[in-house]
Amino acid sequence: MQAVGFYNFSKLHDQEFQKQVMGRFQEIVANNAFVEGKWNTEFESGFAKLQGAKHCLLLANGTDAIELALIAVGVKPGDKVGVQAISFYASAEAIVTVGAIPVFIDVFPESGLMDPASLERVLKKHDLKAIIPVHIYGQPVDITTLEKICKPKGIKIIEDGAQSQGGFYENGKPIGSSDNITTFSFYPTKNLGAFGDAGAVTFNDDAIKQPLLSLRNHGRSPGGTLLVGRNSRCDHLQAAVLHLKLEKISQYNEDRKAIAAKYVKALKDLPIRMVPEKYLKTSSWHLFPIGVDTKETKYKLKDFLTQNGIGNALFYEKALPEEGPISHYEGEREKALLFAGQTLCLPMHPFLTDAEIDTVKQTLKKFF
Ligand SMILES: *Cc1c(COP(=O)(O)O)cnc(C)c1O
Repeated sequence: MQAVGFYNFSKLHDQEFQKQVMGRFQEIVANNAFVEGKWNTEFESGFAKLQGAKHCLLLANGTDAIELALIAVGVKPGDKVGVQAISFYASAEAIVTVGAIPVFIDVFPESGLMDPASLERVLKKHDLKAIIPVHIYGQPVDITTLEKICKPKGIKIIEDGAQSQGGFYENGKPIGSSDNITTFSFYPTKNLGAFGDAGAVTFNDDAIKQPLLSLRNHGRSPGGTLLVGRNSRCDHLQAAVLHLKLEKISQYNEDRKAIAAKYVKALKDLPIRMVPEKYLKTSSWHLFPIGVDTKETKYKLKDFLTQNGIGNALFYEKALPEEGPISHYEGEREKALLFAGQTLCLPMHPFLTDAEIDTVKQTLKKFF
């Protein structure tokens, strides 16, 4: 049987796309406009529109986006910040690097998304200054319910949307259109990826725009130096690539959704957990996670897929509370450990063919 790649960069970055990129690169070099040029502002307005937000600011990467968002909402060293126990390491790491203390919030066993009931239990023991729910795999967290819990207590919400470019909440509005700060990463493997590192925040609150602008550029502001910031500017070359990709992101996400629907149909009789049906239409389908009964089955399946040439990846092999440097922090973790133990991701990108989906299906059938 034919090999099935986990990603397909040669189709994504085809000859025509490369030609367009090179044209923009030549113009940037000719104009010596290397940092924060016209494509940065063009992208920022286009991406804000895509995500239904008033403002977008490009940054150096998605981890900076979380750190700067935490600082912008007033998180100070020693403050406690709740974080979804299933995510990429950076969601918790950013809390530690700003001097705050992560507290884990457990997840729904079927999605890996933050469970509001766990947040309420955690709040009985911990005073949280902010929480970071993560739209993991592209599935939308139930932000409305989290806001009902957090708003009366003055707890800020920072949405980690690193996997949700072009994705939607359950009510059909774009991720990033809420009144919270939403953070994005444009790491090359994301749905919208640069030719290197880049990130962004989207938000509606005018009052935090100037502080965020200052934070990303050494504390500078029109009136002088405002605060101690950092360098989190985004290269003009990266913005030029991202701006080009904006044209296609919505179509590519539609293609991902159609592929996800085909997968669901093809795999429905196998003994696996798939993304809950209610997210089929709203997810950005960054990844296609499946769950099996035990950790042992997961590793056996991983080996079997690899031997048969089927791309696969463990996102996430460990839940955040199992990661050594942060495992001592408090909170809830029970469901997250089970979820991470049982989850594996199948190939997912906009160019997956029916034949490839069938190959994945036949290989999984053989395994089970
Ligand atoms: C990729 C990712 C990040 C970090 O983004 P970088 O651009 O690599 O710094 C943060 N959170 C989640 C959920 C991610 O997937």
